[in-house]
Amino acid sequence: MPGDDRSERVEDVLARLRRNGGRVTKARQLLLEELFDRGGHRTAEELAGAVQDRAPEVHLSTIYRNLDELERLGVVTHSHMGHGPAAYHLAETAHPHLVCERCGSTIDVPDEVLGGLMATVRRRYGFAIDPHHFAIPGRCRACSGDAGAPARG
Ligand SMILES: [Zn+2]
Ligand SMILES: [Zn+2]
Ligand SMILES: [Zn+2]
Repeated sequence: MPGDDRSERVEDVLARLRRNGGRVTKARQLLLEELFDRGGHRTAEELAGAVQDRAPEVHLSTIYRNLDELERLGVVTHSHMGHGPAAYHLAETAHPHLVCERCGSTIDVPDEVLGGLMATVRRRYGFAIDPHHFAIPGRCRACSGDAGAPARG
């Protein structure tokens, strides 16, 4: 993929922002670089900390405002992983999550894992599940005492 280089991908997103009427600021650029560099599952405060390491003048409120606008522009999405603060991802890499209620570990899964459930719910109830917004809670293999059992599916 030619757009695989990080700065090129950040540039792609910034170009999309400009086309959609968004401004490109230093805080926004640093925020996107963080999201591209280290992937998702970072809270607004963690992202703010990382941006502030490089640009101490950027306020937490600026990060929140930027995340909101990047969400409106379809660049970033958030997921609720449990009781804590939301985790942010680039929209293009969004995916469903399983979160263990006992140890807090999370598992990223591909959309097709939920495909059957989504199709059934849509057919029976006309309801379109958003598979990315909330994590599915439960017990991980280790916490369910199932460590030796073969993986299913
Ligand atoms: Zn667990
Ligand atoms: Zn994830
Ligand atoms: Zn939400």
